[in-house]
Amino acid sequence: MTNEASRLSTISTSLIRKMFEITEKAKREGRDIVSLTIGEPDFHTPREVIEFAYKAMKSGYTHYTSNYGIYELREAISEFYNLSPENIMITAGGSEGLLNASLAFIEKGSKVIIPSPSFLSYFTYAKLCEARIVEVRTHENNFLLDPDDLLEVINRDVSVIFLNYPNNPTGAVMTYKKLREIAEIARDYNAIVISDEIYDRIYYDAKPGTLAGFDNVVVINGFSKSLAMTGWRIGYIVSNPELLDPILKVHQVNGVCAPAFAQKAILDVIRSGMFDDVVDTMVKEFRKRRDFVYGELSKYFKIVKPEGAFYMFVDVEEDCMQFTENLLDFGVAVTPGIPFGSWNDNFVRISYANSIDNLKKAVERIKNYHDNSRA
Ligand code: PLP
Repeated sequence: MTNEASRLSTISTSLIRKMFEITEKAKREGRDIVSLTIGEPDFHTPREVIEFAYKAMKSGYTHYTSNYGIYELREAISEFYNLSPENIMITAGGSEGLLNASLAFIEKGSKVIIPSPSFLSYFTYAKLCEARIVEVRTHENNFLLDPDDLLEVINRDVSVIFLNYPNNPTGAVMTYKKLREIAEIARDYNAIVISDEIYDRIYYDAKPGTLAGFDNVVVINGFSKSLAMTGWRIGYIVSNPELLDPILKVHQVNGVCAPAFAQKAILDVIRSGMFDDVVDTMVKEFRKRRDFVYGELSKYFKIVKPEGAFYMFVDVEEDCMQFTENLLDFGVAVTPGIPFGSWNDNFVRISYANSIDNLKKAVERIKNYHDNSRA
């Protein structure tokens, strides 16, 4: 007897769990596995942030804050966008913001547009809200949603469009001009865009655009990736205050507020002027790794060069489950493409959030597998 609610019937955790169990089993057997499955920076939270948090805890930042978050932090974040603190809500990680916005704007039975490939959680949010998912293929357009393709599928039944640039799992980055085109199409059809910009600071070429400030857009962001703080659970939403009202109805019973001491620590990091330096140091390292892994693997596989985040989506020209399982025998764990949406059966996601030594080892093993499987 599970008593599971029917809204969960199409939500599965089995593939990710299966891959996790296979990798863990291999490690238990004492095998040397390099894991390229990691969805977070491999760097630790900078020492200075920890010191700020420690000070904040000692000085009483251990209580609830306002549902919207500490005002001064909202103010500091609003300055990134030239907006006002009333446009900002602090959430318990980007994920809480995504769920809040989904429950606030996805009408049961409405259509939700998700470009494929996309971060797998969007499919779960749409299913939790009992929506109809409409996927749009982006493979022929360097993994960028083409406004013409959007126009083909959009109509008045669409409640929400998810966007995620820089993208997980492809590293694709979209410019402001293209993002704006999409937001304007959505506005014509009275649809909300949930623009997940959590990787906005991690880019190597053109600066990613932001949709903050558009009246039909809810921007999701946070510090999990930019400050290597995944365990601290600090995210934020940027939108016009009218959209924050429905979001608050969910947030007040979901995250309630983000951890007070972590909010204060981030405020101190921003105000001390360290934020950019911390990000720059990390991005410099990610760039070296991207250049190395892309340079090597693109000799063997078709890869669209990632311009942001720390992932690349590799066309392995064979069933991704088969590839993933076989590659494990050669000592490398990667994530199969299937959970990231339709048409990804022959793709795997590689995360290069790993040391250059490990990446060198992994690349060598992938080459061995490639040469073996094609011999
Ligand atoms: N959005 C994307 C695209 C992500 O890749 C992730 C985490 O992997 C998140 C949101 C969730 O971030 P957080 O840890 O802040 O909840």
